[in-house]
Amino acid sequence: MQVAQRSIVTSFGEFFVELDFGYCLSPEHSIERGCLLKHAHAALDEASKNEHQHFSLFEMSYANKIEHSANLIDKLRQVIEKDELFLVFQPQLHLASNRITGIETLVRWKHENEIISPADFIPLAEQSGLIVPIGEWILNQACLIAKQLVELGYIDIVVAVNVSPRQFSHPSFSASVHQALRHAGLSPRNLELEITEGVFMHNEAGTLEVLHELKSSGISLSIDDFGTGYSSLSYLKRLPIDKLKIDQSFIRDCHNNEEDRVIVRTIVELGKSLGLSLIAEGVEESVHVDFLKSLQCDEIQGYWYSKPVEAAQLFEFMKKASAKAS
Ligand code: C2E
Ligand code: CA
Ligand code: CA
Repeated sequence: MQVAQRSIVTSFGEFFVELDFGYCLSPEHSIERGCLLKHAHAALDEASKNEHQHFSLFEMSYANKIEHSANLIDKLRQVIEKDELFLVFQPQLHLASNRITGIETLVRWKHENEIISPADFIPLAEQSGLIVPIGEWILNQACLIAKQLVELGYIDIVVAVNVSPRQFSHPSFSASVHQALRHAGLSPRNLELEITEGVFMHNEAGTLEVLHELKSSGISLSIDDFGTGYSSLSYLKRLPIDKLKIDQSFIRDCHNNEEDRVIVRTIVELGKSLGLSLIAEGVEESVHVDFLKSLQCDEIQGYWYSKPVEAAQLFEFMKKASAKAS
């Protein structure tokens, strides 16, 4: 306990250790050793997911959840061969020019006539390591769509792809990005990688090296969900980042909530003073747009402008948007 109370100071900032405990009872939950261990792990899993509760006693529903996840992971193994993944695209609007300057790629899983949200399966893909082949598939498809857009005349379009921490830390990550670009014949300046602050928590030196290498090849880099991570702000100075994506949790209620407005304003000021570009996510209302315009936030993304759509609809949407803008 005492050891955990001390923080760990690294060149990226100060980190705090959290202890979580999971336990179960015998004979109530089982009398078999292996089963008791499994149950204690399930309880630990629950405790570590809950920010405010560090102790957790096993409940049968935890075991059911774990079984459900294990089933999904099994199905996820065949997701590429079975052609069950597809991408949707959400346009990003540049406020000053009223033009679409970027597009975020979001993955979907169609399984047995049901669409499974990435929020449900990406964590399982991360946990199981399947994010590496799945992430490569996403990168390849996104680069192919980006190339089609360039060929349609949107030569400056930047297509953003989400990258999970485990995918990023894989030794072949950078090579797979270059391979996807080559395969599609796409210029690196048309690709952006969205990383979260979680990426910086492991292997600082390796992370910096990979980021610099990607950046120097012409790829843009953005920090997703900015403002929700734990890392220190000092890393911002050292990272070759182009853009901050202001998390949607600060935008959602900014028309009612002064604290959210202060946070958004502070992030915009911080980003601008570091020479970064800024995009607000989850923009649903015109009051959000007015507020973000007043701050001179560069871009917006959200249902107010467009929901994520499939490629064919995206091409239509972009055609209409550029006809309107010219
Ligand atoms: P994210 O990267 O922060 O993506 C934004 C999420 O907000 C998307 O949810 C998008 O559909 C949703 N969204 C966009 N505009 C609005 C809005 O105005 N209001 C609201 N309420 N929501 C909006 P989605 O597609 O369900 O993705 C959830 C998360 O799953 C993503 O959050 C990202 O962390 C992860 N994810 C999605 N696609 C990929 C992917 O291709 N690779 C990886 N590694 N993760 C992905
Ligand atoms: Ca994202
Ligand atoms: Ca985000």
